[in-house]
Amino acid sequence: MSYLLFRSTSGPKQILAAMPIEIIYRVAPEDWAVSVKSNSEEIPVFSWRKTGWGSSPELGQAITIRDAFDAVKSPSDALSFLSHSGPFRYVRGSVSWTVFQGWQAFFRNQRIKGVRSTQTPQWVDGDELDHIVGNPKIKIDITLKAKVPLAKVWIECASVVEVIAASIFVEQLKGVKIRICPWCQRLFEPQTKRGTYCGHACAHSAGQKRRRSGT
Ligand SMILES: [Zn+2]
Repeated sequence: MSYLLFRSTSGPKQILAAMPIEIIYRVAPEDWAVSVKSNSEEIPVFSWRKTGWGSSPELGQAITIRDAFDAVKSPSDALSFLSHSGPFRYVRGSVSWTVFQGWQAFFRNQRIKGVRSTQTPQWVDGDELDHIVGNPKIKIDITLKAKVPLAKVWIECASVVEVIAASIFVEQLKGVKIRICPWCQRLFEPQTKRGTYCGHACAHSAGQKRRRSGT
């Protein structure tokens, strides 16, 4: 018997239908304490630690977390974000405002250029690497006993960084193309091929400015 038989590339291929991937991140913000101090260069450093096991964790919405993270503009925004988000990173207990902004720029770049075309920041640690290079551990659970076999596919996340990376990974699997709005700098998914601005308000403001400056 020849093992070459197993390597045959002809014949029907068995292909499974696309299955939705769920992003699982369970967090109880009440169980986490967040504090802020400055380092020697006077840059705010945010720390988080688990202070309790009292609350039952709820499932966070990956896209909501990612958008809220991207909307952070100041250290006080960051503090309020981190007070609701649970651990920012799994392997570390703190992040400086500079590195926080670095993560923002990194994830924005990934959404525009693609997960595999973005250089990995030097501060990445442990399991984070697999998540941010588009190689997260995808778990699958199949029920064969049901009339129609059921499959559940999910990515389990332990931190904000992992959740955002997973949401970008899924976005890119879906083939979503992202643009930057030239007026408000927000990232958006264009509804038409020619959509330049994120919405009517930005298109309108940019149009007014053009008319005022006569260009
Ligand atoms: Zn805009």
